[in-house]
Amino acid sequence: MKKITIAIDGFSSTGKSTVAKQLADYLDYIYVDTGAMYRAVALFALDNKILSENDFNKEELIKILPEIYLEFKKNKDSGKVEIFLNGQNVEKEIRTMYVSSFVSPVATIPEVRRKLVSLQHKMGIEKGIVMDGRDIGTVVFPEAELKIFMTANADVRAKRRYDELKEKGDTITFDEILKNVQERDFMDTNRKDSPLIKAVDAIEIDNSEINQEDQLNIILQLAKDRIVGRV
Ligand code: C5P
Repeated sequence: MKKITIAIDGFSSTGKSTVAKQLADYLDYIYVDTGAMYRAVALFALDNKILSENDFNKEELIKILPEIYLEFKKNKDSGKVEIFLNGQNVEKEIRTMYVSSFVSPVATIPEVRRKLVSLQHKMGIEKGIVMDGRDIGTVVFPEAELKIFMTANADVRAKRRYDELKEKGDTITFDEILKNVQERDFMDTNRKDSPLIKAVDAIEIDNSEINQEDQLNIILQLAKDRIVGRV
């Protein structure tokens, strides 16, 4: 069966990773969460005191970029793919609001993007991949057979993220999450290097009022059409 490349881009907390994982499971494709890679670089900068509330030493981060080694490994117990930063599992740490509030400035740095895009490109060279992020259909795989651009109203997105973090025991407020979602949207769409934009050939899905199951079925049908060559 022909293997294709599926690029899923869109705003923060639109459920890209949930649907991307489901698609990859169904099609038996590799799933890559590129947001996790930017988050891991932000965590590295925070841990090394290059980045803090008051200061961001971009030159230093660029200098020590070669020291950052990222890999994804499947957790045998949960079956979930987790990210490792220099050999350490950082899957939990990178999802905190603390890292979320520092990641978008890190993602504006062209040298960081170049390093991560090159890794992402290698991961998808043999196709059979579902990758989600902000620049997958525009920069990483402009030739992807299927490009999805996901949007949803900011309140709906913040509410979903709020419920998710609440369930994990986080004490964060809805307003803090909404502010973070809006700030990341602004930074991601306004940065100079690879801003978040819809690729001309991407299919836009606004999931403010679509449930997860219907959304998966819509995208799955689009993927099948391309795999069998109907489109
Ligand atoms: O997808 P997620 O919300 O985990 O991504 C975290 C941040 O990483 C985004 O807000 C964005 O700043 C950055 N990012 C990016 N390009 C990607 C994926 C994520 O700039 N391909």
